[in-house]
Amino acid sequence: MGNALLVLNAGSSSLKFSVFDVGVSGALRAMAVGQVEGLGTAPRLRAKGADGVVIADERSTTSDVANHAQALQKIATLLGSRFAGQELAGVGHRVVHGGPDYSAPLLITPQAMEKLDTFMPLAPLHQPHNLAAIRAVQQGRPGLPQVACFDTAFHRTQDEVAQLYGLPYEYYERGIRRYGFHGLSYEYIAATLPDIAPEVATGRVVVAHLGSGASMCAMHDGRSVGSSMGFTALDGLMMGTRPGNLDPGIILYLLQQEGMSARDVEDLLYKRSGLLGLSGIGNDMRVLQESESPRARLAIAYFVYRISRELGGLAAVLGGLDAVVFTAGIGENSAFIRRLVCEQAIWLGIDLDPAANERGGPRISRIGSRVSAWVVPTNEELMIARHTRQLLGL
Ligand code: ADP
Repeated sequence: MGNALLVLNAGSSSLKFSVFDVGVSGALRAMAVGQVEGLGTAPRLRAKGADGVVIADERSTTSDVANHAQALQKIATLLGSRFAGQELAGVGHRVVHGGPDYSAPLLITPQAMEKLDTFMPLAPLHQPHNLAAIRAVQQGRPGLPQVACFDTAFHRTQDEVAQLYGLPYEYYERGIRRYGFHGLSYEYIAATLPDIAPEVATGRVVVAHLGSGASMCAMHDGRSVGSSMGFTALDGLMMGTRPGNLDPGIILYLLQQEGMSARDVEDLLYKRSGLLGLSGIGNDMRVLQESESPRARLAIAYFVYRISRELGGLAAVLGGLDAVVFTAGIGENSAFIRRLVCEQAIWLGIDLDPAANERGGPRISRIGSRVSAWVVPTNEELMIARHTRQLLGL
C-alpha cells in the first residue's frame, strides 16, 4: 500500500495539486503544493515543498501542455523525481457538483462517473474539468483508487424550504434548486471551530468565505442550514468577476432588448462583472484597497453592502447569531474589509477589537461581545485528503 495521497483541484485553465503523507497515523501533513496554470495559453508549473521552498517553476509550450492529462503528466514527473520513495495510495478530487443526492464523498467507479457526467449541465464551467482530471488519472494510473469530494455535499443537510425556488414544483424535482457551494471550505471550518472557538462551535454561526469566489453559510451546530449561493455559483455575494444576486429580469432584458446572446450573458456574469466590472480596475481586492479611484471605493462599498445584507438574512434564518467567521483570501487577509463588515454589524451585537483584527485573530471581537467574530484560515485540500483517507481506509 502507498504512503502518499494526491489531491487535485481542476479548474478551466489550471490544475492545482497537493501531496499528503499518510505514512504516519494522526494529522495529515502536506509534503508539496503547487499548480499547473495557464493551460491552453502559457502553461507554467509551480510548486513548493512542506517548508515553503520552491521545488519547481517551469514554463512549457502550449503544444506540450495543452490539457489536464498533460498537466497531470508534468505533475507526476515532478513528484516522481522529488518523492521517489513515496508510493501513491489514492487521489482525492474537488468536484464542484454532487447533484441533489450526494451528501458525502464518493469512491469513483464507472457507474459513479456516469452519474457525475449527468451533473455537467448544472456546472458547465467547472464539472467537465473536474471529471477530466479524474479521467486523466484513470488513463495514467488505471486501478489507483480515486475519491470525488463535492462542493455541494455539505449543504445537503438544509431543509427543503431552504433549497427551494418559487418556481413550479416540478422544476425543483428536475434539479433546479439551491445547492450551495464552497462546501469543503465550510466543512473544514465546522471541523476546526471546536478547537479554536469551542464556546460557539455548537451554536449559530455565519461563515463568510471571501475569496475570488465568495459566499456565506449559516451553520447550526456545525451543519449547514442556509447558503448565499444557489443553483450555480453566481448567486449571493458580489465576487471578483461575478455580480452575485441579480434580478432575473435583468437577464431577460439583456437577451430580449439588448440582443445579447446566451454566451455573451454568460461571459458578462462569470468574467466581466463583480469587483472588476464595478471598479473598471481589476478583481484583486489588494489593488482596489490601495486605489484612490472613486469606482474602486464604490466596488468595495457594494462588496461590503452585499455581505451585510446576507449576514442579516442568514442571522434571520438561524433565529439569532452567536458568531461570525471570516475565511479565504480576502476574509483571512484583509483587516480592512473585516472591519467594514463588523462595523456594519454592530446592530447584531459584534463589538470589534481593532488591534486583534489587525493581528488577524483568531478572535477579532472584544471579550464580552454579544456576537463573537473570528478569522479561521480555510484548507479545502486538507478536507479532501481527510475524506479520501477515510473512504479508502488508509
Ligand atoms: P480563490 O481560491 O477563490 O481563487 P482566494 O481565496 O485565494 O481565491 O482569494 C483571492 C482573493 O483574496 C483575491 O481577490 C485577493 O485580492 C484577495 N487577497 C489576498 N490577500 C489579500 C490581502 N492581503 N488583502 C486583501 N485581499 C487579499
